[in-house]
Amino acid sequence: MAQTKLTLKCGECGGQNYVTSKNRQNVTERLSLSKYCRACRKHTKHGEARLAR
Ligand SMILES: [Zn+2]
Repeated sequence: MAQTKLTLKCGECGGQNYVTSKNRQNVTERLSLSKYCRACRKHTKHGEARLAR
């Protein structure tokens, strides 16, 4: 199981807006992406919230 599912959480309101995955063997750092948050109605920084198997 190289590819791991995770959720992306809004850094401002805490909403979990996106589900993505990454290869933990290649990508060991925490993801931090600018994504659109519907609750904030703007792009905010989204970080890893939860690793779901
Ligand atoms: Zn938000």
